[in-house]
Amino acid sequence: MVRKAWRGRISVCLVYPNSYQLGMSNLGFQTVYAQLNQMDHVVCERAFVPESHLGSKGAVSIESGKTFGEFDIIAFSVSFENDFPNILNILRSSGIPWLSDHRLDFHPLIVGGGVACFSNPEPIAPFFDLFFLGESEGMLDEFFKLYDPAENRHDCMVKIARNVPGIYVPSFYKVNYHDNGTLSAFDPIEDVPKTIPKIRIKDLSDFSTTSTLLTGDTTFADTFLIEVSRGCAHGCRFCSAGFIYRPPRFRPLILLAENMTTGACLSNQVGLLGAAVSDHPDIEKLCSLAHEKNLQLSFSSLRADSLSDELIRVLKKSRIKTATIAPDAGSQRMLNVINKGITSEQIFCAVETLVAAGIPNLKLYFMVGLPTETTEDVQAIVTMCKKIKHGFLKSSRPQKRIGEITVSLNSFVPKPVTPFQWAAMDDISTLKKKIKTVKDGLRKIPNVKVHADMPRWAFLQGLFSRADRRVSALIDHAVRNQENWPKTFKETALNPDFYVLRERFEDEIFPWDFIEHGVDKSFLLKEYRRALNEKTSPPCPINESCIICGACKMG
Ligand code: SF4
Repeated sequence: MVRKAWRGRISVCLVYPNSYQLGMSNLGFQTVYAQLNQMDHVVCERAFVPESHLGSKGAVSIESGKTFGEFDIIAFSVSFENDFPNILNILRSSGIPWLSDHRLDFHPLIVGGGVACFSNPEPIAPFFDLFFLGESEGMLDEFFKLYDPAENRHDCMVKIARNVPGIYVPSFYKVNYHDNGTLSAFDPIEDVPKTIPKIRIKDLSDFSTTSTLLTGDTTFADTFLIEVSRGCAHGCRFCSAGFIYRPPRFRPLILLAENMTTGACLSNQVGLLGAAVSDHPDIEKLCSLAHEKNLQLSFSSLRADSLSDELIRVLKKSRIKTATIAPDAGSQRMLNVINKGITSEQIFCAVETLVAAGIPNLKLYFMVGLPTETTEDVQAIVTMCKKIKHGFLKSSRPQKRIGEITVSLNSFVPKPVTPFQWAAMDDISTLKKKIKTVKDGLRKIPNVKVHADMPRWAFLQGLFSRADRRVSALIDHAVRNQENWPKTFKETALNPDFYVLRERFEDEIFPWDFIEHGVDKSFLLKEYRRALNEKTSPPCPINESCIICGACKMG
């Protein structure tokens, strides 16, 4: 078989398995694109799904229109599990064998990265030659020092898997199962590490993560995005980003100030990103700086308990039309179960403060289907929204205008590496009933709109999030069925309920356990038990000598 000839520069096609609009709004995707093109011996192009970029030759890159087969590497940046079928679709259209085992030396290397991959890559493992587990900044240089497109594919992957921490080659591991369907063992079949560390950058002050391209036709078309932090100290028990990016890390003010100066040259709108932006120790100084530069600031997330006067002053000045707050649950009991760390009173107070500051509209995020949720807890979402509306009206009167409250209702999906990784998810009909309760309860309230997700999509996300590699066959079958999932479930022996609706055994081996995520499984289990007993836990103290959850042991 003809081997690929070395052509001097390694060509990479970075693929976002969804639309151009979503891909180019994704800071992680933009960052990897910039990092790869900064390397002297690498040239990176982009591709997106869907059909607009699937020409008659199959999938092609945006920049040069090259087919996938002409690249050395096809790198998927995967942020959302529901994009898994799109990965297979685009691979199949490219003419490249979609199973790693069927690829030969001359085929491009198919690699994956992004949070959905390092959370649990197993449902898509057979489609990939290798995965980058962790934050890309800590792995790309090492990988490209060792990768040689002219080398025998297997030998090259063994060399990389042995020498680059964070690289996972699924075909080098064998999975065994108990008769009851749970995992019994996950072992290497090559001389590679038994477990793989998820790579994280200890100090974010060494580099910036900001928009590299401001393009039209995207969610943040005119907004220069700056990542201020990774991780979150609050320990909400459903939140994947909070646990998977532990310990919380903040960029220093001096670097963020530089970022803001760069942003100010490109746009008068700057968006600050992070799991809990308002927790940044210098958030007030950052806001003042934006004020001096006459920038309009927006925030990816605001906590109801951290709205300082300075923050409110900046929000006011930024002429923000909508403030977003995520109570997540309606009753104090559920707020305790999820360890939200705020009270209903703090939420009401935050709403009144925001409206009094002149922000006319509110967006409120809630979830249904949380562990232990009762009918009363669902009804409490309606009650909380009505109370918020009451305070909203009171604070709106002096402004002489009444805005709108949008209630965004999402179905809870248990995620790997969170205390709720053991929890069962509600079935589709239960979720529909709960959504209906909230919608009916708020239907007649003026200026309140409810948007709910579709429980059948949440069910699929629940399936992909915690599945093992056997589910890859189900994804393959669904793609052949044009993603007719009911038909697919009928035609295949695998029972999706086993993955979605089953509470896990406490001592069960999870498909993602081979990844050293940092946070101890015993800590997560303790947190799960505390949740079931409605007990709260204190936030992470952000202290390097702490050993509470285990994340700081990794150094
Ligand atoms: S070990 Fe302690 S300081 Fe470190 S992330 Fe865990 S709780 Fe936070």
